[in-house]
Amino acid sequence: MPLVLRVDADKPYGRANVGEKILSKVCENYWLPQMASLGYLGALEKFLVFLREEDIYSHIYFRKCTLPTLGWKGELLLEGHKIGLHAEDTRTVDTLREELKTLQRHFHLRQISSFTKHGSGCWKSGRNHYPLYEPDKYLRWADDLGVPFLFGNGEVKTAEDVTGESGFYPNMYWIDRLHQSSDMPGFTEAVQWAKQGGHVIVIIHPCNFVGDSEVDKNMRKLVAFSKEEGVSWITK
Ligand SMILES: [Zn+2]
Repeated sequence: MPLVLRVDADKPYGRANVGEKILSKVCENYWLPQMASLGYLGALEKFLVFLREEDIYSHIYFRKCTLPTLGWKGELLLEGHKIGLHAEDTRTVDTLREELKTLQRHFHLRQISSFTKHGSGCWKSGRNHYPLYEPDKYLRWADDLGVPFLFGNGEVKTAEDVTGESGFYPNMYWIDRLHQSSDMPGFTEAVQWAKQGGHVIVIIHPCNFVGDSEVDKNMRKLVAFSKEEGVSWITK
């Protein structure tokens, strides 16, 4: 059985150094032109190159502040990936609908496959961000809006956590240093669970893949091991 990759395009200018962190913060909290010369969506582009080399397709979630610009160099690399909304303003079903409409207008030729929620539920991150994480509400709204809410923001800790109900998977296997240092199981376990029939949803942020060598290393190890074990990556 498969591994599924969820990619959250969180940081407009990355977070590999102080300069990138400041640019991303300004962009999230205020406004900044989207300048390729300053590295706008550069981390996502690099991550997409990696996925293309590994022949892996994913679900990619964009915030309003990380939408690709016209002529963005990574555009062709999006081919074959599923495009979704990384929702920020989830005060009401109407604010969520507005964000979905913005994304739909932006990707006018592409189907919006699903949405996820930005943030852990604890703190506000960006001017449009409503910090509460309320998955039960999103599941109801997904029915109203006709756009599925596939993936939650929980953590996989045991084999039982990889199961989902009615197409919703509440827990992710996080490729992030923060999570890897807690009680997250090792990547070999995650691959074995997928092999035994679970749907293991792996989540990664391109800004961390590019900005944190541990995250890069862990992702590459996970991919290499999945191939050794013959476990495929699918976009469910
Ligand atoms: Zn996020």
